[in-house]
Formats: sequence, C-alpha cells, structure tokens
Amino acid sequence: MLQVHELQKLYGSTLAVDRISFSLDAGKICALVGPNGAGKTTTMRCLAGLIAPTAGELWVGGLNVGKQSLAVRRRLAYVPDEPPLFDDLTVGQHLDLIAGLYDVVDSRSKSDELLAKFGLASKVNDLANSLSRGMRQKLAICCGYLFDPKVLLLDEPLTGLDPPSIRCLLESIEELAGRGVTIILSSHLLAMIEHVCTDFLVMQCGRVEFFGTGAELRGRFPQSQSLEDAYFAATSQFTPAAAVAVCPELAIDTGVGNSHVVTM
Ligand code: ATP
Repeated sequence: MLQVHELQKLYGSTLAVDRISFSLDAGKICALVGPNGAGKTTTMRCLAGLIAPTAGELWVGGLNVGKQSLAVRRRLAYVPDEPPLFDDLTVGQHLDLIAGLYDVVDSRSKSDELLAKFGLASKVNDLANSLSRGMRQKLAICCGYLFDPKVLLLDEPLTGLDPPSIRCLLESIEELAGRGVTIILSSHLLAMIEHVCTDFLVMQCGRVEFFGTGAELRGRFPQSQSLEDAYFAATSQFTPAAAVAVCPELAIDTGVGNSHVVTM
C-alpha cells in the first residue's frame, strides 16, 4: 500500500532525510519515532505530496506520489501536528468543505458520527478560532477520517489530547486498520502507542535506525526492559559524533578546529 524508496530531502544544505526506504502493507499501523529533528515530519510531508523530495520515489496504493499527486491526495489523509484550520469557518463548515472536495456520500451522518465520537458535537456551530488546541486537533482528525482515506498519516496526534480522547483516537486507528487502512503515527510517546502499532520505524539524523515489529526491536536489544528502553538503546547508539563520522555534511566548521552538528 505504501512504499518509500531511497527518499532523500535536503533543505538547502540541511540533510533532513537521508535515502530511507521502507514499505507497509494494507492494514498496518506504523509508529514513526525518533528524536527532535530526526526527519519524521519531512518524511510524512513528502509522502503526502506537500513537499518534493530531493531524490527517491514514493508510492501510495501503487500510485506515484510525484507523478499522480492528485490521485494520491484522494486516497491519503495527512493530519499535521498543528492543523491549519480556517478561523472563520465553523466546525460543521470544515466537514462540509471536506465532504464537498472529496465527494463524500452521506456526509452529514458521517460528520455527525465523527463529531460525536470525538466529543465535538456541541461545537458544530462554533468557529474554529474559538476551539482549544486539543479540539482543533480532533477537528483535523475528523476531517481526515471523513473521506475514508486508504492511507492515514498522523503527525504527533496525541499532543494536546486529553486521556479519553487519546483512547478514542487509538481505538479508532485500530478500527480503521481492521478495514485495511494503512496508518503512520508519529509520536514521542512510544509507551502510549506501542500496543496499537504493528510496525516501528525509528529515525535519527534523517536515517532509519530500525524498521520492523516490536518483537524484533526488543530482540535487537534483549537487555531492554520495555519497548521504550529498546527504542532508547536504538537511538543512543547514533550519537552526534557518530553522525558526523558517517555523514560529514551534518557538521560545520566552527573555525576553531571543532565541528558541531547542525541538523539534530
Ligand atoms: P520533531 O520531532 O521535532 O517534530 P522531526 O523528526 O519531525 O522533528 P523534521 O521536522 O522533519 O524532524 O526536521 C528534520 C530536519 O530538517 C531538522 O534538522 C530541521 O531543522 C530541518 N527542517 C525541517 N523543516 C525545514 C524547513 N522548512 N527548512 C529548513 N530546514 C528544515
């Protein structure tokens, strides 16, 4: 359903994603984890067709993201960590807009169901600019779910959500995966998402440190007490010094004989 081949993204001289490859079948839920600046958001934005890769190829449902971007966008929903809502539209109008853009059949009942599920039913006539951060996040998630995408990319969706909303989100993700939707979920809260994830993609300094199942990640670090410990072990091996050793463009000369990492 989703394939990434040798994806590279440079922002000027900053190497954000360094020739990564992975693929996911339908119905998989992949945790995308890694330290700040690892390249998670950049990878998602490339997959969503929002930014062009410097090199590499991406496919969604057999469609090439670069060459068939419109068709890809009809099948893929990307929910960013800070959703850009229309401040002068109400909650209901946001869903109507998405329903119109994506030709959603029976959109009113689907919208009502989603708003009820995420505790936003009483806000249907409220303007987006009156919503709390968590409510904005939930509205963006509802918009993403409304048109039944085949691939769902959720960037830090837990941020700002209260515990019942987190539970609701994770249950809904499992439900969607059961219907064959492929999901990538980026988060710094591995312990909170690990039980719903089938696969784990650990990134650091733009590279894939690990890709596989939770059992495989634990197996790589058998001394780890938890999956989170194994993740810490996987990411602690790639120190800034080691990063510069394998990837000199990550370093700049300070002029006093030292170098430091600029893209961690
Ligand atoms: P976080 O966990 O902090 O959200 P991330 O893993 O999502 O981080 P990215 O946002 O993909 O990381 O950033 C990867 C690298 O690319 C970082 O070094 C970042 O500074 C750089 N970067 C991201 N966006 C831009 C941009 N628009 N212009 C220049 N550099 C960028």
